[in-house]
Amino acid sequence: MNERRPLNACSLDELEQRRARLAARFDQLKAAGLKLDLTRGKPAADQLALSDGLDGVLGGDYRAADGTDARNYGGLRGIPEARRLGAEILGVPPDDVIAGGNSSLTLMYQIIEAALTFGLFGEGSAWREESIASRRAVKFLCPVPGYDRHFAICDALGIEMISVPMTDRGPDMDAVEREVAREPMLKAIWCVPKYSNPTGCVYDDATVERIARLPARAGKHFVVLWDNAYAVHDLTTPAPRLANVAALAKTAGQADHVVQFASTSKITFAGAGVAFVAGSAKVLARFEHYLGAMEIGPDKVNQLRHARFLSGRVAEHMRAHAALVKPKFAAVLQRLEASLGGLEVARWTEPHGGYFISFETRPGLAKKVVALARDAGVTLTPAGATHPHGRDPHDATIRIAPTFASLRDVEAATEVFALCVELASVEQIIASRSDARAKTGSATQ
Ligand code: PLP
Repeated sequence: MNERRPLNACSLDELEQRRARLAARFDQLKAAGLKLDLTRGKPAADQLALSDGLDGVLGGDYRAADGTDARNYGGLRGIPEARRLGAEILGVPPDDVIAGGNSSLTLMYQIIEAALTFGLFGEGSAWREESIASRRAVKFLCPVPGYDRHFAICDALGIEMISVPMTDRGPDMDAVEREVAREPMLKAIWCVPKYSNPTGCVYDDATVERIARLPARAGKHFVVLWDNAYAVHDLTTPAPRLANVAALAKTAGQADHVVQFASTSKITFAGAGVAFVAGSAKVLARFEHYLGAMEIGPDKVNQLRHARFLSGRVAEHMRAHAALVKPKFAAVLQRLEASLGGLEVARWTEPHGGYFISFETRPGLAKKVVALARDAGVTLTPAGATHPHGRDPHDATIRIAPTFASLRDVEAATEVFALCVELASVEQIIASRSDARAKTGSATQ
């Protein structure tokens, strides 16, 4: 039997033999009691250790460049050197950046809550006012597959989600523009423009240009939520270049309608980094006012540590990350190709950076594969997590996160995963042939 043939081209006998072989191997793995995890995109311990130099970098000198005592209250926008760091990561002027606490997700939540209840564009711009007056829910566009925590923010704030497909160049902009023209209560689009979570794609120039012009086509007070979480997380050189959305939006007269986010969560310490939000002077002033009711100022000591530790060496630091992460991505891709290449039962992305690989099974199999893998000791992100409300209409997308586990565990887990995909696919094809036979049989009776 040709192992590399498309499974659909195999005879029923061949498929039955294959199923028996795969099931026997699956039982062996199950008995081995593995405990492997490819779920959340967390940095591994050796990546975190790259930033252990943060500890002690201040050496008792708590003065920021402008003389601020970082230990004290105040400074809602963050210290200047932290804002410069955020500006460098996001490719915007430091004046357009607020450096906050440790989580960009918190900043996203706060920006959206501010837009809903207070308005980002002055009196009368709160989305909720318009929602109450029109008796229509606020809605966001969600390119899918996408990031589950973005969807969780929408859920928590009562925002309806409209899915649009992702392509390998970014969101399907024809679909996006259609929705924006159709629905006045569409107020935002989620974007992870570089090494998108989970597909790993980088938005191409034409897509970024269309996104920058999108607010002009949308209803009032539309915002592009530009979550550039993986802006500097390149695995290859030269790294793909992302067009500058802020500059393009400015040219299009839409500078107020793009709000960007980033953090050092996957540069330094995932639980103790610095997060950034960038926007126009008008929007940042509104947001600062809103923040002022919530806090007196962010953790400036941590900001100062980060600025001193990373100053002038972000690229070098990220190369050290890449040296640890790249072999894990390569291991997943190599094993997927070795096990599933040519069988025509799955597709997967091959990102040049970021934290994820997106895997697509035959329709209707993602949940089954995740369950099989769990039985064999490999935990995967729940199927469906890549879609609003956890519902993937095709039940086909699985997110693979190779960074956290050791290289050996990543290799072992991918082999188990690929076996589960093949087993589930063979079973599905056998079942569909039996169904087809039964149908032909009953039709000829
Ligand atoms: N945005 C994206 C796209 C992510 O993938 C993640 C983490 O996986 C985050 C934001 C989390 O960012 P933070 O740690 O700054 O809250």
